[in-house]
Amino acid sequence: MKKVTIMLPAYNEEESFPLLEQCMNEVLKQNPNYEWEFLLVNDGSTDNTLQQMIRLHRKDSVHWSYVDLSRNYGKELAMMAGFDFAQGDALIIMDADMQHPIDVIPEMLQWWEEGFDDVYATRRSSKETWMKRKTSQWYYRVLQWFAKVPVQKNTGDFRLLDRSCIEALKRMREVERNTKGMYSWIGFRKKGITYEQKERQQGKSKWGYRALFKLAINGIMDYTTAPLRLASILGMVVSTVAFLYLIYILITTLLYGEPVAGYPTIMVTLLFLGGAQLICIGVIGEYMARVFNESKHRPGYFIRSYNGLKECDIQKPLKS
Ligand code: UDP
Ligand code: MG
Repeated sequence: MKKVTIMLPAYNEEESFPLLEQCMNEVLKQNPNYEWEFLLVNDGSTDNTLQQMIRLHRKDSVHWSYVDLSRNYGKELAMMAGFDFAQGDALIIMDADMQHPIDVIPEMLQWWEEGFDDVYATRRSSKETWMKRKTSQWYYRVLQWFAKVPVQKNTGDFRLLDRSCIEALKRMREVERNTKGMYSWIGFRKKGITYEQKERQQGKSKWGYRALFKLAINGIMDYTTAPLRLASILGMVVSTVAFLYLIYILITTLLYGEPVAGYPTIMVTLLFLGGAQLICIGVIGEYMARVFNESKHRPGYFIRSYNGLKECDIQKPLKS
């Protein structure tokens, strides 16, 4: 029988657990033709999330396992830990708040059986606020414009990945992660399905605008180095305009003499150039910071335990 892992990263989700448990039992009942593993990743929660995980693992250690990270690393790195510890032939990533409906799982499995490696689920309609919807729309447009690989719109981490995709993702060890970009980057056979996003039933969203902004910047920088090129183009345009202006000034000075004036033009040029330079330095700095962080070659995360075992006590080295 093939084994399928459902990976559930959770950060302060104690309130979600009754629903989560109920949903996973439902999955077990509805799909008896597969072996199931429910892999919970505790991303340094400060509430009773870990206790809930331990409880489920004690109750049914065949199906439930958990990874307890040493602190809050953010969802992207929590998922990296999940990839490392998942044992299934396929992996389904879901949010612990159960905003992703379990009813599309049979459809995912069906496409997987037909030979697709990455069955991603796209939100049909979103109940987000107008602002959040619009910003995400613009963001995708900009990203698509820059990116060399196709970007899937309105698609998050809710998807089924074949073992071959998991192994590919496991080899990408960068710590400033945008997993969404990686799914596209690794390729493999993809199939899109749609789903209706549910409202969050309990607890609250952990993604403020700040976290989203960071994710967005990471997204662009992961996909492409185009902003660096943009900086050079901006530089060229500005110097061309400056050069033409220089010729104009030379000619007018030769023809009409030099009446001392031009304070506004100097100020405008100065400020504009200063601004453009600062932006370009900022762009270079962003990439530099990434090089700096990655060149330290730190592990993406540390674990406190896997099913109660410390990392040094785990027999088989699970990480690549
Ligand atoms: N999450 C996590 N670490 C974090 C933030 C979030 O593992 O630092 C998990 C969270 O528990 C949930 C999923 O990522 O299972 C999506 O988070 P959330 O529901 O807050 O995001 P939203 O659905 O609002 O985009
Ligand atoms: Mg959510």
